[in-house]
Amino acid sequence: MVGAGVANVNAATKLIDNGYEGKITIIDMGKNPYDRKYSEVMEGFLGAGGWSDGKLTYHTSIGGQLSKYCGEDKAMELFDQVITNFKRFHPKPEEVQCSNPIAEPDFIKPYFGLRLFPVWHVGTDYLHEIGKNWYNFLVDGGVEFIWEQKVSDINFRHNEITFKSIKPEFANMDNDSLFYDTLIFGVGKSGIDFGKKLAEQYKLPTEPKPVQIGVRFEAPQKHFQKLIDVSYDFKLYRKYEDKGVSLRSFCTNNNAAYVAVEETYGDHSYNGHAKKDESFRNNMTNFGILMEVQGIKKPFEWARDVVKKLQIDGTGLYYSPTRKPSTTSEGKNVSAIQVDRLHEISKAMQPYFPYVYDFINDMKKVFPTLKDDWGIYVPEVKYLSPEPLVDYTNLALTKYSNVHFVGDALSARGITVSGAQGTYVAEHILKN
Ligand SMILES: Cc1cc2nc3c(=O)[nH]c(=O)nc-3n(C[C@H](O)[C@H](O)[C@H](O)COP(=O)(O)OP(=O)(O)OC[C@H]3O[C@@H](n4cnc5c(N)ncnc54)[C@H](O)[C@@H]3O)c2cc1C
Repeated sequence: MVGAGVANVNAATKLIDNGYEGKITIIDMGKNPYDRKYSEVMEGFLGAGGWSDGKLTYHTSIGGQLSKYCGEDKAMELFDQVITNFKRFHPKPEEVQCSNPIAEPDFIKPYFGLRLFPVWHVGTDYLHEIGKNWYNFLVDGGVEFIWEQKVSDINFRHNEITFKSIKPEFANMDNDSLFYDTLIFGVGKSGIDFGKKLAEQYKLPTEPKPVQIGVRFEAPQKHFQKLIDVSYDFKLYRKYEDKGVSLRSFCTNNNAAYVAVEETYGDHSYNGHAKKDESFRNNMTNFGILMEVQGIKKPFEWARDVVKKLQIDGTGLYYSPTRKPSTTSEGKNVSAIQVDRLHEISKAMQPYFPYVYDFINDMKKVFPTLKDDWGIYVPEVKYLSPEPLVDYTNLALTKYSNVHFVGDALSARGITVSGAQGTYVAEHILKN
């Protein structure tokens, strides 16, 4: 397995639980959960999921496509397996709670719709302990982990992967290689460029994808409290059918909510996470306002270009009518250049930024105390890079049937979907 992220960790767990007798090796450019630092947001045991907000969404319309491959009922059953795993390795499983809003509140109408679905909350603070417990289980089960080695090439024809240590002291060493019988490729967002390179090199057939881009919105939580009471991770949405544009709020963090910088392709974009420990409480709320735009000819290239235009001095932008950028949970400034007007942002995202601006203005109507007490970090982007075409029954490449793509590398966008995809592939391997 390439990548020790959520997808492959769940795949390995499924195999071990079912007495799989083959040798399982997982190689990752990050560190084991004991040595991984807080600043290593995307790499190491459990991948981006390891330092995430630990919100496990429980609906097939959220977090990427799963029911497309395996149908609704199977998707829900796979989600259950992932959630059970997180509880199983949790030091206090009784603290894992599910929020399940049931009615769309009247006050958000007529401006927004609200997508209602259950979310299981694990809590960022527990993920470290979960990681250690889970890791111990896999090591005891015979899984070999190879840490701090970056895979730079995979030869799908000869079943060989090439990798090299990322430690500076080994910079002069030669590449190493390993042969596989079956490969599960789960490199997540941090390996998105690598996945794209392989797709091009092997001319892998792909599925068409829309663009998803927008901003990370941040404001004091008090303005949103009456909606948070109904739905912790609320998903406001609206659609402009005739324009091929839809918008939604994405990944809401509350109470101890911090904006996080993501680095993809060398550019900065934004995301968010929340801490569970009361000592981190800052009474802020942050969420993405993401637009999905259909019909852009080369969506991936377009989004890359927009993100590039939204960088100044190697980082993203921050705009607020009244506020300053916040700090991270470690008390450092969130990296962003504050701009005093929306012109640059609007120009880079044209013609689509007005949809985001209208969304914010309508939130001011729904949440009357909000007024100008908000800020946006720009951009937030979900690179839906061309998704390699896979056999829906086992997520194997249509050209290389012993190579399975899982998780964010297959356009998942969340922990539950990624873990479920890994489990789905493991079930196929066990069956065979
Ligand atoms: C700040 C933040 C907060 C988030 N919060 C949530 C949340 O609350 N809920 C939710 O559902 N989702 C959340 N997500 C998204 C979620 O974490 C991912 O969707 C999920 O982790 C994807 O799983 P994966 O296994 O595909 O990849 P990942 O978990 O990202 O793991 C990929 C692994 O591959 C390794 N890798 C990459 N390239 C190479 C290479 N060339 N060689 C060797 N190893 C490599 C990386 O080191 C990494 O460990 C968050 C993401 C971030 C960044």
